[in-house]
Amino acid sequence: MRACAEVDLSAIRTNVARLSEVAGGAAMMVVVKADGYGHGMSEVARAARATGASWLGAAVLEEAIGLRAGGDTGRILTWLAVPGESYDEALGNDIDVTASARWQLADIVSSARRVRRRARLQLKVDTGLARNGASVDEWPLLLAAAADAQNRGEAVVTGVWSHFACADEPDHPANDSQEQNFRSALADVRAAGLDPEVTHLANSAGTLLRPSARFDLVRCGIAVYGLSPAPRTATAAELGLRPAMTLRTRLAAVRQVPAGQGVSYGWTHETPRPSSLGLVPVGYGDGIPRHASNRAHVQIGGVRTPVVGQVCMDQIVVDLGAVDARPGDEVVVFGAGDLGEPTAQDWADAAGTISYEIVSRLGGRIARRFVGQDGQ
Ligand SMILES: *Cc1c(COP(=O)(O)O)cnc(C)c1O
Repeated sequence: MRACAEVDLSAIRTNVARLSEVAGGAAMMVVVKADGYGHGMSEVARAARATGASWLGAAVLEEAIGLRAGGDTGRILTWLAVPGESYDEALGNDIDVTASARWQLADIVSSARRVRRRARLQLKVDTGLARNGASVDEWPLLLAAAADAQNRGEAVVTGVWSHFACADEPDHPANDSQEQNFRSALADVRAAGLDPEVTHLANSAGTLLRPSARFDLVRCGIAVYGLSPAPRTATAAELGLRPAMTLRTRLAAVRQVPAGQGVSYGWTHETPRPSSLGLVPVGYGDGIPRHASNRAHVQIGGVRTPVVGQVCMDQIVVDLGAVDARPGDEVVVFGAGDLGEPTAQDWADAAGTISYEIVSRLGGRIARRFVGQDGQ
């Protein structure tokens, strides 16, 4: 096999258990959007359910429907749709859907009428992220419209929620102000005569770093996959998390070059001495960030070797240094880090991005293999 993302489902289970313990009495939603952050949506969902996740989170309707198609029967929340999108299948599959505005509620209600189902409806309020969620002006109008829909039997308001902007920076003033805004939005909810089953605000960072934000339910994504949601505050290990994904491939070639050899497109690296170069057959076409050119490392023969020159579409070149490597030898691009290999966080640092992007962008040419409990 050329390249394989190995996903340790035991690590997923351990991380979910750890997060549930941290969350105390709050219920657990495991967020499996974007194919489980690149780890495999259905497999992660099964591991999460087996560890007591009472909710799964999906960004878009087709992800939620895909979970049902994969056999999941638990509660699923979804939150992103465009005007005119049909909720028929989602409501028919007992998926909780989110409205951030009256137009969205109207779309949901018209689907509910069509499929003759009471929509399980959650309401999202913007508390400061300024992405979606009802604005201050829209909120009372959305609440009134939702209460009407509930009174007509077309919907039942199951939840009210919002999302943090800066939870990865625990001291950022946005956190206090968002939590305050959320509490005041919840007072509006009660004043509108609504009594939702769950209220929720915290993502992974909020769950781990802000006890006051846990409410009834926490929505954990990145931490489930064992990566730190707040790497400047605490590493994954410090948070008791274990990275679940190891990206493995094998050396496609090894060549000896003289000193002064330019390497890869643009000759952005020049060998300082006669060098042994290894060809690693993954590139930006597989989701390896080009911004990590000349900065990231891989592990070969137990040794960290630097990426030299530009990351190409299908391949990268590494300077093997003194490692006596042969074509076919295993290359660990990133992994849990406990055997000295780089982590997805190391790649994120090298590329000037976040670990979320490293794992979720891994492309279709990378095979996936599941190990650990539930794995093959
Ligand atoms: C992605 C997402 C999450 C999970 O965030 P993490 O930082 O990965 O824990 C939670 N809630 C919403 C609305 C999201 O879009």
